[in-house]
Amino acid sequence: MGDTLFQRIDDAREDLIALTQGLIAIPTLNPPGQHYEAICDTLAARLSGSGFETTWVRAEGAPGDSEKYPRWNLIARHEGTRSGDCVHFNSHTDVVEVGHGWTRDPFGGAVEGDKIYGRGACDMKGGLAASIIAAEAFIAEHPDYAGAIEISGTADEESGGYGGVAYLAEKGWFDPTRVQHVIIPEPLNKDRICLGHRGGWWAEIETKGEIAHGSMPFLGDCAVRHMGAVLHAFEETLFPAMASRRTDMPVVPEGARQSTMNINSVHGGQPEQAADYTGLPAHCVPDSCRIVIDRRFLMEEPIEAVRTEVIDLLEDLKSRRENFDYEIRELNRVIPSMTDKDAPVVTTVHDAIRDVLGKDPSYVASPGSYDQKHIDRIGKLKNCIAYGPGVLELAHKPDEWVGITDMLDSAKVMARSLQTLLLP
Ligand SMILES: [Zn+2]
Repeated sequence: MGDTLFQRIDDAREDLIALTQGLIAIPTLNPPGQHYEAICDTLAARLSGSGFETTWVRAEGAPGDSEKYPRWNLIARHEGTRSGDCVHFNSHTDVVEVGHGWTRDPFGGAVEGDKIYGRGACDMKGGLAASIIAAEAFIAEHPDYAGAIEISGTADEESGGYGGVAYLAEKGWFDPTRVQHVIIPEPLNKDRICLGHRGGWWAEIETKGEIAHGSMPFLGDCAVRHMGAVLHAFEETLFPAMASRRTDMPVVPEGARQSTMNINSVHGGQPEQAADYTGLPAHCVPDSCRIVIDRRFLMEEPIEAVRTEVIDLLEDLKSRRENFDYEIRELNRVIPSMTDKDAPVVTTVHDAIRDVLGKDPSYVASPGSYDQKHIDRIGKLKNCIAYGPGVLELAHKPDEWVGITDMLDSAKVMARSLQTLLLP
């Protein structure tokens, strides 16, 4: 079993290239989140042509959704001839900004040798195209299969997924009674299975001061100096503590196998003036300074401990530094997600990779997060992985590309996985 299935996928090579190019050509840049309707149209036309029922869902009222930039999502479902499990392939349709340094048209989909170039080629329109080819080949090969196949194209993953998978999960689309296995074809490399991701906690910290004339700073209280004390305490205490923690999660790259924190921004004192302002600054002591922290944490760290660790440090400063006062505002939180290695979707894809590539896959976890968090936390579905073609390090870079052979290989892995899960 498999030879004729794999032959169908090899025969679809030109179709796969054209499909990927067609998806790349739609500039679904996020932010602002544009052309979601156009890409849903392309997917709906393609998949209804292959016998899928398509449903359009707009994430009305989600962050970013507006009349100008509606958050459209498409879910396509194909029913087998008998009851069985539903396997869902979820891909985000948005791409990040183009940025500088391109030597090809970012929406041109140029093919050079074994590579297709374009913004989103790797992250993750190549994976979406591969899952479509895989499902179509499987259905053609086994029209009498048991269960159902779903393919979704969803919005806003690059900005948190609230107008996409989070919204669909809230509406029950990932309820374990209707979907049993989820594969997210993010670019994790064709020989790796991504089991989950670290957590994230974002907060804004503000230190308070008192405005005064800059020639007499002793009459005021400098909020930037107080923030300096915060940053110093981070350097002395928090960063070494985070560096000492190791996770059992197989996070790649290696440097992310510990707790990390990025200071995302610092703003203090007078706002920056417009570029055409030619005057000098006024002489003032800043009465406010703000930073945004981006704290990434491990499965082994409870989120409350992550939060209190920062607050304890601020309280300690308050107790020993004169006039120190602060406010902290939580901006967002993401709980770590990790699918069990014995979960059916993991063992199935593991064996399929061995069949197709002739070697055992490695297990990885993502240093950042992706839509698995919503499928896990909101959808309550634990049987979910990320698996797809594309080299992770190319995501969001200039001259992003996806390998054609990699797409074909991972389409075979996906199609073989469908045989295991839907041909009882
Ligand atoms: Zn992605």
